[in-house]
Amino acid sequence: MFHVAETKDIFEGKITDVYFERALKILKKSGINPFVKAEIIAKGLPQNAPWALFAGLEEAISLMKQLPVKVRAMREGTVFYPFEPVIEIEGRYQDFCVYETAVLGLICQASGVATKAARFKKLAGERLVISFGARRMHPILAPMIERNAYIGGCDGVSVVKSGELIGEDPMGTVPHALIICFGSTVEAMKAYDDVLEPKFKRIALIDTFLDEKFECLNVAKALGKKLFAVRFDTPSSRRGDFYRLLEETRWELNLRRYTHVKFYVSGGIREEDVPILNPLVDGYGIGTSISNAPVIDYSMDIIEVDGKPSAKRGKWSGSKRVLRCSKCGAGKIVPNRKGKHKCACGKKIEDILIPVLDNGKQLIKTESPEKIRKAVLETIKTHELEC
Ligand SMILES: [Zn+2]
Repeated sequence: MFHVAETKDIFEGKITDVYFERALKILKKSGINPFVKAEIIAKGLPQNAPWALFAGLEEAISLMKQLPVKVRAMREGTVFYPFEPVIEIEGRYQDFCVYETAVLGLICQASGVATKAARFKKLAGERLVISFGARRMHPILAPMIERNAYIGGCDGVSVVKSGELIGEDPMGTVPHALIICFGSTVEAMKAYDDVLEPKFKRIALIDTFLDEKFECLNVAKALGKKLFAVRFDTPSSRRGDFYRLLEETRWELNLRRYTHVKFYVSGGIREEDVPILNPLVDGYGIGTSISNAPVIDYSMDIIEVDGKPSAKRGKWSGSKRVLRCSKCGAGKIVPNRKGKHKCACGKKIEDILIPVLDNGKQLIKTESPEKIRKAVLETIKTHELEC
């Protein structure tokens, strides 16, 4: 058996820190069950980043749908800033207190992965960014991780099951094992070319046995125009000056008129590597950096009790509206009262914390991963977001 919870454990409130279970027992015994509003915010973001992406709402809704609560939330893929509520839950405290652990768990990791993917994609621009890191995490999480990497902006995912979830063909090249089985990169690539349908791009892995430059020339000669790209997964012990290695290989290929061959790189690529390598790279395979992305440290706190603002030290009390300028992306938090607001840039500013659930009834359409991703790409391209 795998050491994971079953869905019913989550719905039954078993994935809870025990103190909530104890609090519930005490509240019940004491006959106390106030009508509260609780909000979920992040006071700070990983890497001290100024912004992050909100993700995981679809799963959080499937859990909260079972509860007698009203929920306002940001749409998945929304760029948010510290202190902005991403979710507000309204209801009798006893009805949802044991679900805090699970609700946070559903959004903290999802948002962390989506944010990291968005940061890579923003740095990489038009170049491909593909999620390769499923193998670093428990396999039961692979579809969740890659779905959020995809909505965050990744152009593709590598795991078959993740591809099914998001409705895209998974992407991949060849493993080193295939080349080792053949004993030759060229022979392995020739077999790849013979066996696989033309729709699969011919991408050769060129760091297995020989120097990258010579191996690139070998496969380019063998496959000619059919060779779409080469992937440098060069081990760190051999990397030296990776930029120079790519530059030299590009020179040698171009000199022999193999200018059509694209360069993909993978293996421990960090955010800071991307701007340096961009001039020579057409695609990035990002593993651990995305799948093991730092989580967003959201916390949930009561901010209103029986209609009156009330919050612990360090949190702003009262129900809030979160406003966003559709033009410049600037944000504003205001008390949850009627009234129109304008952005400093002069444009109209819109509510982005919107009603999503009313006692089991879902009030917004579940968006496809493709649609969420499109909106994210548009936002990170057009808004002035610093990484
Ligand atoms: Zn504005």
